[in-house]
Amino acid sequence: MSIFDKAYAFDAAELARRANTYPYYPQLDHPEGATVVFEERRRLNIGSNNYLGLATDRRVKQAAIDAVNRFGTSVSGARVGLGNTPLHDELEAELADFLNMPAALVFGNGFDTNLGVIVTLCGPGDYVVLDELAHRSIVDAAKFSGAELRRFKHNDVAALRAKLEACPRDADKLVVVDGVYSMDGDLAPLPDIIEICRLDPRVKLMVDDAHGAGVFADGRGTAAHLGVADEVDLLMVTFSKSFASRGGAILAEASVVDYLKHTAAAMLFTVALSPADTAAALAALRIVRAEPWLCQSVLATSSRVREGLFDLGFAVGGESPIVPVLTGDQSTTVSAYWELLRHHDILAGIIAPPAASYRLRTSYSAANSAADVERVVEAFGGLGQRFPHLRAKR
Ligand code: PMP
Repeated sequence: MSIFDKAYAFDAAELARRANTYPYYPQLDHPEGATVVFEERRRLNIGSNNYLGLATDRRVKQAAIDAVNRFGTSVSGARVGLGNTPLHDELEAELADFLNMPAALVFGNGFDTNLGVIVTLCGPGDYVVLDELAHRSIVDAAKFSGAELRRFKHNDVAALRAKLEACPRDADKLVVVDGVYSMDGDLAPLPDIIEICRLDPRVKLMVDDAHGAGVFADGRGTAAHLGVADEVDLLMVTFSKSFASRGGAILAEASVVDYLKHTAAAMLFTVALSPADTAAALAALRIVRAEPWLCQSVLATSSRVREGLFDLGFAVGGESPIVPVLTGDQSTTVSAYWELLRHHDILAGIIAPPAASYRLRTSYSAANSAADVERVVEAFGGLGQRFPHLRAKR
């Protein structure tokens, strides 16, 4: 017996046999706009978080190349030591300015940002209260922090209130929600959540806006879209989606950012975001500011797809670029994925538990054309004929 037994018992090949063909870890090549080469054919990628299409933008790529030429491929150390560059500081300053928050701190990725912030600010005796669909990085961070973990029913403000009221009055509490939920694409009811949080002066609110920043309110995110940007205590964003890079940032009042900057393990004990990644995020941020129509475009495109799918009978809702199509089980999910790929040259995202219930996660981009929208709707029309239960409006 050993800790390896679970690995020996796990049979990835069985997944493939059951589902006919193994769909995970496809090798993608030569991305261009909303397309990518897979198995030697150019396909439409409708599973990406590259919401503004900037990951292949000439200017963003050039910024990354220039940064490599100036700073090398790695800074080979933590920012607090000898791993910082002017790019990191510029990115923080411009991000704080754009999002209208006092200060920002850039981490190596979004996952680390949530981990670094929550583990550093919360500990035994505190309460971390999460929406049940909060991102995995938030759940893990809350567990690692040693704080008491409480979860409330998704987007249910009365349930949040009840959970908070059940915490000791004299304990510190952190409420964490996603601005946009990555699997369903729905938004948190932030104004109502804030109203509840403000009932108790010991509650702070953190919003993970990985999928809302760079999309809503001309890029300023979900809280700005809902008119409550000033009310968020800790705003988390990632660069791995709209901002065409990797990395993440926390925005908050200056003293909190300064504290995290000097104490968060996920900041101090890991290498800084690479120069190329930092420059790409900075270039993307500048483009978002200069060209807000990109944000408007992705929202218009995703609305058109959503309406098209709804008219076909699919149960789609929400208002973000994320349009999930629920599939019910693994075999339908994988068959539907292959059907889209083989017959329509369309690559969709496959989602399975524990990430969320079985679905094709589709998400759109400012790089999509009107013809792409038609092609996607037509492809789903065909899919709905083959798998009629997909069209059962839920
Ligand atoms: N938060 C949310 C809501 C996410 O969807 C993700 C990643 N998909 C993360 C955090 C982690 O971000 P990253 O991939 O940039 O590390």
